[in-house]
Amino acid sequence: MPEVAFPWHDTVWTQLTGQDQHAHAYLFSGLPGVGKRRFANAFAAFLLCTTPAQGMACGRCRSCLLREAGTHPDLLLITPEEEGKAIRVDAIRQLVDFMGQTSQQGGSKVIVLYPAEAMNQNAANALLKSLEEPTADTYLLLVTDQPGRLLPTIRSRCRGQRLPTPSRDAALSWLADAVPELNGDDRLILLQMAGGAPLRAQALHDLDAVKLRLGVVENVKALLKDQQSASQLADSWSKIPLELLIDWFCSWTLDLLKLQTGAIRHAENSDMDVVLGYMAKHVGAQQLMEWQDWLLAHRSMTLGKANLNRGLFLESLLLEWKQLLKKR
Ligand SMILES: [Zn+2]
Repeated sequence: MPEVAFPWHDTVWTQLTGQDQHAHAYLFSGLPGVGKRRFANAFAAFLLCTTPAQGMACGRCRSCLLREAGTHPDLLLITPEEEGKAIRVDAIRQLVDFMGQTSQQGGSKVIVLYPAEAMNQNAANALLKSLEEPTADTYLLLVTDQPGRLLPTIRSRCRGQRLPTPSRDAALSWLADAVPELNGDDRLILLQMAGGAPLRAQALHDLDAVKLRLGVVENVKALLKDQQSASQLADSWSKIPLELLIDWFCSWTLDLLKLQTGAIRHAENSDMDVVLGYMAKHVGAQQLMEWQDWLLAHRSMTLGKANLNRGLFLESLLLEWKQLLKKR
């Protein structure tokens, strides 16, 4: 069976594959965990297939079989050598060589590159040159969670295609198949944590995020009631992925802002509704903005930083959070 895009991308898929001519370069963007990579891989299969039928790769031709075996000579996948690391200029040189070769199977050549925002400066500049001089029948598919981090000159040379987040019902119905061991309530909590992105929700389940979250919510309540100290909590959170913790604080902050402006009446983070409802009434608007600035600045400073003193960082985060209630 050829890889197919997720059902919530059907409309985009039909539009894209129905075109007579395809762009030389696409930039697929969307929230983390909505299925962008799978979309790009399915589209690569479609472009490489010699006998596509009904807008899909056939799954039977030589090209499809080679691709499924992972040995298609006209398909190049570029990712960081290690997850979380940069895509370096060497990888882009390989891409440039690949673009210069003639197709070995006599059809199209396709490059899939993700995450595109992981390209370092040199890599991005090298790619820019290839984008300026496209090769016939060669397609470049870039995938990114953060198009804003790409060079504007790269973005402008690609056809942008945002891949939507599914409706809540579509996401929950997919999750029911993907994680049948969870009950409906837990699946909903996971989906909320994932910002509606089903694959992200599944990944969070693999991290046992529902259980971790339950503990963190209780801890935060205890902190605000002076039953636990910031340094105790920072220690007890040592096994929880930092990215997850920061995500939660960002999401709670967003709820606070929306509650204060009246955009929502109950926190979207339902497990924090009481706490956030109280805070929204007692924290000054200015303090909240300053806290948000602090959080976002530290988010980009800390994530992916190898020599971060995680305990100290978390402690100061918790102290800032608690201070919100005292700084009016
Ligand atoms: Zn085929």
